[in-house]
Amino acid sequence: RIPDEGEGESSDAPFLPVSSFLIPPQYQDAVSHVLIPHGLIQDRVHKLAFDINQEYADKTLHLLCVLKGGSSFFWELQTALINLSSHRRTNTAKFQFSFDFVRVKSYEGTESTGKVQITGTDMKNLRGRHLLLVEDLIDSGLTMSQLVPYIEKNAAPASVRVAALMEKRTHRSCGFKADYVAFDIPDLFVVGYSLDYNEAFRDMLHICVINELGIEKFKT
Ligand code: 5GP
Repeated sequence: RIPDEGEGESSDAPFLPVSSFLIPPQYQDAVSHVLIPHGLIQDRVHKLAFDINQEYADKTLHLLCVLKGGSSFFWELQTALINLSSHRRTNTAKFQFSFDFVRVKSYEGTESTGKVQITGTDMKNLRGRHLLLVEDLIDSGLTMSQLVPYIEKNAAPASVRVAALMEKRTHRSCGFKADYVAFDIPDLFVVGYSLDYNEAFRDMLHICVINELGIEKFKT
């Protein structure tokens, strides 16, 4: 949903006005406020990368970036993982990773179809691997709650876990919880950092909350 007038200003989180950040001109009047600045995303992703590096210390991890929304999160995470495993003095374990990109479809328009489709990788490439799905956002959780069992059944991996950049606090939640979550966010429609609204806003560095004008302006 989009926020009510002044909602961000009265919440517990610090109110971060658009005017305090570098936002592309076409988006400045289309978002109500900045929810998560890029610098904070980087700091949290470094910590997630550290946790992942520790937990998969002696294993080879196969990251599956869920396009397109998960792409900025994925690049940040894989850079942080590379940096960590390059510090051999502090990291004697044999952590390694490979990666692939997938597209996942479980919605037709705004309706969940109850069936999940994964394209971009062959199920047989995932067999016996430790998989980590890298996803932008868990909203109702329906997509991931269908995708994880689908992969387990059809690909027989060694393990499947999910890293989500954000998880929404929403009454629509089906109860699915990601294994790694960078940010717990309110039930608002967010854009930026590869997350889109009709393909707009992916090219914005910070995660922002869309407003009424933004919904109108980028309607297809
Ligand atoms: P779920 O199956 O958890 O309800 O839906 C997850 C997907 O819906 C996310 O991967 C994302 O692509 C899309 N989505 C849900 N909420 C938002 C949002 O606030 N902003 C954007 N840009 N996409 C969202």
